[in-house]
Amino acid sequence: MSDLLLSLSDVRQSYGDGDGAVHVLKGADLSVEKGELVALVAPSGAGKSTLLHICGLLERASSGDVAIAGQSTAGLSDRQRTLMRRYRIGYVYQFHHLLPEFSAIENVMMPQLIAGAGDRQAKARGMELLEVMGIAHRHDHRPAELSGGEQQRVAIARATANAPTLVLADEPTGNLDPATSDTVFAALSNLVKQHDAASIIATHNHDLARRADRIVTIQDGRIVPATL
Ligand code: ADP
Repeated sequence: MSDLLLSLSDVRQSYGDGDGAVHVLKGADLSVEKGELVALVAPSGAGKSTLLHICGLLERASSGDVAIAGQSTAGLSDRQRTLMRRYRIGYVYQFHHLLPEFSAIENVMMPQLIAGAGDRQAKARGMELLEVMGIAHRHDHRPAELSGGEQQRVAIARATANAPTLVLADEPTGNLDPATSDTVFAALSNLVKQHDAASIIATHNHDLARRADRIVTIQDGRIVPATL
């Protein structure tokens, strides 16, 4: 199998139509390999979230294709896209989006249970991930009882629970202090490497971006290499 886990070809995305149309992506191309961590750094409004949503199959592009592990997604039905998201993609948001009424471990078990894992297996794997994240001792706590950094580490454990091919993170350290951002980024990076996943992390933090394998930006609707 090729080591190319994510491939975008000529992706275009516009919102609205006629004179009021906003053309956000105008022929975006990108390839990300197994184990590669790409930092996406671009000004607000450049299209970072749009790009991540399209890569994560949360949104359909106006045209072009996203291939995940060699499989084109342009022609997939909604049902097939949902399955691909469930088994292949892990998503981390700026605000953790954990389920407030469930404990940390239950949040990490959830995607595994949905994917068909048994209770014991999901719990064992969940504890393992919380351990890697350094928060196993907090497994019984609900999100509201955890600090911002801890919440985000649970969210990362949850996003990687089904060993995704592709990990997408949209400003995962955006609301954390610098020291916590560092820990969270390192944890995310380790997990990505450990799983040999491909990953894109959108961040405004240049210090963190420099630790990625590669930095890209969005310029006039296209993806281009960047140096900081
Ligand atoms: P970033 O994440 O880089 O801040 P976004 O991808 O959120 O940028 O947005 C890029 C542009 O697309 C912005 O001008 C935004 O207003 C517009 N946009 C994003 N999503 C929609 C939508 N669903 N409908 C209309 N415009 C949108």
